[in-house]
Amino acid sequence: MPRTVHIAGGGIAGMSAALAFVKHGWHVTVYEKSPGIRPQGAGIYLWENGLKVLEALGIYEQTIKNSIPAWRHQKRDQDGTVFAEDFFSQHNRLYVPTRADLLYAFYDEACRLGVDFEFGVEAVAAEPDGTVHLADGRSRKGDLIIGADGINSQVRDSLGLLKRRKLANQFGYRAMIARSPDELATDEGRGHCEHWHGSRRILYAPCTQDLAYIQLTSVKGDERGQSLPVDHDYWQATFPHLSWIIDRLPEEGRGDQFEILKLTHWRHGRVVLIGDAVNAQPPFLGQGGGCSMMAALALATWIEEAQDIEQGAALWERHERRLIEWTQDVAYYYGELAFYPPKLRTAVFRLIQRSDWLKRKTIWMTALHPPKGTALKPTHRTLQPL
Ligand SMILES: Cc1cc2nc3c(=O)[nH]c(=O)nc-3n(C[C@H](O)[C@H](O)[C@H](O)COP(=O)(O)OP(=O)(O)OC[C@H]3O[C@@H](n4cnc5c(N)ncnc54)[C@H](O)[C@@H]3O)c2cc1C
Repeated sequence: MPRTVHIAGGGIAGMSAALAFVKHGWHVTVYEKSPGIRPQGAGIYLWENGLKVLEALGIYEQTIKNSIPAWRHQKRDQDGTVFAEDFFSQHNRLYVPTRADLLYAFYDEACRLGVDFEFGVEAVAAEPDGTVHLADGRSRKGDLIIGADGINSQVRDSLGLLKRRKLANQFGYRAMIARSPDELATDEGRGHCEHWHGSRRILYAPCTQDLAYIQLTSVKGDERGQSLPVDHDYWQATFPHLSWIIDRLPEEGRGDQFEILKLTHWRHGRVVLIGDAVNAQPPFLGQGGGCSMMAALALATWIEEAQDIEQGAALWERHERRLIEWTQDVAYYYGELAFYPPKLRTAVFRLIQRSDWLKRKTIWMTALHPPKGTALKPTHRTLQPL
């Protein structure tokens, strides 16, 4: 008899877990409260660690099939001065596919491998004996329950595992814009860049030949910066040289307040939590999804190696938690630089930029970590500047 796992939530974390467990021969059911796949947001930064997980899960090529490899990432002042710059290689990749491409790659492969999906079904609670309770009154018992039901996880809260939850006092608006052929021919249009003016930022990230991902970020109290629909005049006045981006921002788009949370424990008996339910973080490292994918694959791998569910889950928490909590903290404090006076902030960025060692110990630590359950050898093609 195959072992059974019931997963609450069909986002990045739940989908990663579904694939990781089905590949180890488990019978997997995913309960997703939305009526179908829900690719919220716009593009998603996938760094080396996340890409390695996708390779191990067999959906790397499918995920990035429309995406173009990043070759350079800059940070610039309002006058266009570059104060931080990184380049990517075949050992340190970055892709920014659309969220739809990522989630449908997961979904198609999961369906192919026989994962059962129940859409429009909400999980409301779980019990340590391996029972999940659903909003429609049903209960399901399995060898393992995974709460991957996002930042407002009901599975987590039913077990009382939340230790603290804190707003980062920053707000992000995300949208996609169409890219023009002219733009593809320019240096600026081909590279990733985070443009700063005071505490406000515009991130420009090429995703596909036709689409770029834009994020506008502002801090608490900046009411015009946080208004939706976007206040084009305000952003235009702040970044006059970026009208080629701002003019194309759509009315619709998603806005989020950024948060960080920590748990007392990541598991209770036969219930385990992954994804934003445990590792929600401000998106300044672009690693929330990466951490969710790493945790999901590692969980299946540790359990397989231990040949015992609770022992494997205990080993998983002991080994994986430290790096993920570290990532949350680095993302939070890195984001706090937005509250510094601009000159001091730029000086800090320049300092980090000067030292590869410092970068590897902080903002690149997670991206360069070889996730548990992945092959350490790179198996991908060499990146070329576009
Ligand atoms: C502005 C912003 C930008 C970001 N950029 C990046 C980035 O570039 N790179 C990156 O790696 N990460 C990024 N992140 C973080 C990333 O989006 C999250 O870490 C990731 O989506 C978490 O996945 P998840 O599956 O845990 O949660 P979610 O994506 O929230 O998915 C949870 C799923 O569970 C479902 N659900 C919720 N409650 C229930 C329930 N009770 N029962 C059943 N189903 C339920 C939901 O409908 C949803 O489908 C960003 C986050 C933000 C806010």
